[in-house]
This record gives sequence, structure tokens and C-alpha cells, in this order.
Amino acid sequence: MSIAAVMPTYARTDIVFDRGEGAWLYATDGRRFLDFGAGIAVTALGHAHPHLVAALKAQAEKLWHTSNLYRIAGQEKLAARLVEATFADTMFFCNSGAEAMECAIKTARRYHQAQGAKDKYRVITLRGAFHGRTLATISAGGQEKHLDGFAPKVDGFDQVPFGNMNELRAAIGPTTAAIIAEPIQGEGGIVPATQEYMKGLRMVADEFGLLLILDEVQTGLGRTGKLLAHEWYGITPDICAIAKGLGGGFPVGACLATEKAAKFMVAGTHGSTFGGNPLAMAAANAVLDVMLEPGFFDKVQASGAKLQAKLKAVVAKYPKVFSELRGMGLMLGLKGAIPNGQIIAKFVEHGLLTVAGGDNVVRILPPLIISDADIDAGVAIIEKAAGELAA
Ligand SMILES: *Cc1c(COP(=O)(O)O)cnc(C)c1O
Repeated sequence: MSIAAVMPTYARTDIVFDRGEGAWLYATDGRRFLDFGAGIAVTALGHAHPHLVAALKAQAEKLWHTSNLYRIAGQEKLAARLVEATFADTMFFCNSGAEAMECAIKTARRYHQAQGAKDKYRVITLRGAFHGRTLATISAGGQEKHLDGFAPKVDGFDQVPFGNMNELRAAIGPTTAAIIAEPIQGEGGIVPATQEYMKGLRMVADEFGLLLILDEVQTGLGRTGKLLAHEWYGITPDICAIAKGLGGGFPVGACLATEKAAKFMVAGTHGSTFGGNPLAMAAANAVLDVMLEPGFFDKVQASGAKLQAKLKAVVAKYPKVFSELRGMGLMLGLKGAIPNGQIIAKFVEHGLLTVAGGDNVVRILPPLIISDADIDAGVAIIEKAAGELAA
């Protein structure tokens, strides 16, 4: 037998972490790393946040799981808080981003079909998108590298170029049910939508009676300096998927919707055995306790502005290594002038963790609680690495 016991679907870096604290991770070989990847935008409050640890410990001693056959107090609390803080009137809890997107797509189809439009099922998606790794979400994302070997593609997704309103309008037909967009494409390489484009998506959806689904799995939960990134654009979606930062590292996802969009998601239409169990809800409620404190998002915005200013200077100084800085808040991308894998490996050598993205981008996704000192430490490593790479 030569296959690894863990199915080898990841090209993993050879580091094993043993513990974490704030923005730092400690490896079993004694090295320590500054975590500017946050487990792909998940550990929004850093590692071992005392409030999260206490909340999860307390819940672990009381009750882990009951199933959704019964009311779950933590779900009702979390949902009420998210209804209060967002556009949403209702939400479904699940365990991951892909599941949140599956629920979003199902909700959009059912909205039309329950009203008699049985042939409305197609969804327009945007090139460069990423919505997860289930059969439906790889078909929605439309990326060849994710679809290869998994044919047939799930029917019902029509892809158009990101940012092009004419092509999007042209793709709308009598069977179109919804549009899916990420306010900032994350996996695609930190590509923000313009104000005009996001407003255009809302207008087109309204004009043709389509539902607008935003995938905020990565942009959500404070990553851009607002609870949800669409707040920067002055529009609201009909349906919105969140996950990554929501549990602070505990697997939690949610599909948020307006009453109108979710009107037909009645008993029996959708489900999840684990979704929203008491442990997951304790983690997510603890994350919200911290994020909804006055001033939290102001601090994220200030940290984002500081990090952006410093990185901009590094990009200007090392054009042979970096060609561009883009993004919002603490969701940033350094586009490589050399292969991004080479840059990321050099960062690791110097004790900094980042994440690769499409379009040869290095994603910079520090925890939202990053201190000014840790921003300085991270930028110092990036600058040192750039100097060596340029030489
Ligand atoms: C990560 C991500 C997903 C998928 O989330 P999983 O938890 O891995 O299923 C979906 N959409 C976006 C925008 C993401 O960044």
C-alpha cells in the first residue's frame, strides 16, 4: 500500500502545529510562525482566544449535540443576533461554506419553483469564482482545475466574465433563477467587485425577478472591516452564505435570507444532522460577543489601513517580486511578479504563513485581532523576503 492514510488531496507544507496563541502558531519542531493566513480566513479572533475557549469549554461540559429534531437555544440566539445585525430575516445553520452555498442555491430554485415557475433553475456565476468543493459548488465555480475528472458537471450554471454587465444581461433567459457573486473573489486571487458592478448586479436581479446570492463565506464576519462586505457597496442581497470566520475555527456555516426569498423553505425542505449543534452555536455566539463589541470593526479597518499602507510601500520598493496590492480591510492580495509559490515558501522560511490564491496571488489574511506590533513584524518579514527574492 503506497497511498497515505490521509487521502492525498492536498500538497501540504511539511509543518505540524502543536498550539497557537493570538496571531502566532507553534510547530512541533520548535519553530514559531506569524499566522497571516488564519487557516484560510477562519481564525478571525486568532488562536486560543480566551473568550472562545471559555465558551466552548463551558458548552462541552453541558451538551454537545441533540439534532435539529428539537429547538436549539444557541441557534435561536445566534439567528436573532444576525437578523438584528444584517439584512437577513432568517437563516439555516450548517457546517461549511459549501453547504451554506448549497442551501443558497436550493433556496433560490425553490423560491421560483414553489411559485409555479417549474423551469426556473439556472444560476449565473462569475468567472474566477469559488463556492466550494461539492458537485454543485464546483459546477457553480466553473473552474477547470476543480471539475477535472468529476464529470458530468451539475447542470444549471452559466458563467460570465466577472465585471462585465453586458455579458451578464445577455446570459439571462427564461430559466434563470439567480445570480451568485463574491463581493471580493477570494480563492480567485482577491479581486474586489467595483461599486458600480455590485449595484448593477442588484439592479439586474430586480429588473428580471432573479434572486441575488452573495457568497460571503470568505469576505464575511469582519474580514473587510464590516460584518458583511456588501455593507461597503450600499446594496443588500436576497440570500447570503457565510462560514469561515463565523465559528472562529469551529466548523459553522449559515445561509442568510430575506423572508421573501426563504418563504418556501418550510419543514422538510432542507436539513443537516450536525448543522447548528449546541457546540457550534456556543463557538459562533462567542465570536459574535467579541465582534459586536463597540469599536471592533473600527479597529479592523484601522489595522487594514495600516497594513495596506505598509504593503503598498513594499510593493513599490520591490517591483521585481510584487506587481500589485489589492483587497479591502484585512483581506489582501499581493500579486507576484514571480511565481506565488516561491514567495510563499520564502515567507515560511522566515516564519510567516500566507495562502496562495488564483492569478498568482499571495493572500494576506491575518486574524482580525492582529496587533500593530504583529503587523510590523509581518511586514518586516515580507520586506526581508522580498529583498532576498529580488537579489
Ligand atoms: C472557502 C470558501 C467556500 C467553501 O467553504 P468550505 O467551508 O471549504 O466548504 C465557498 N465560498 C467561498 C467564497 C470561500 O472562500
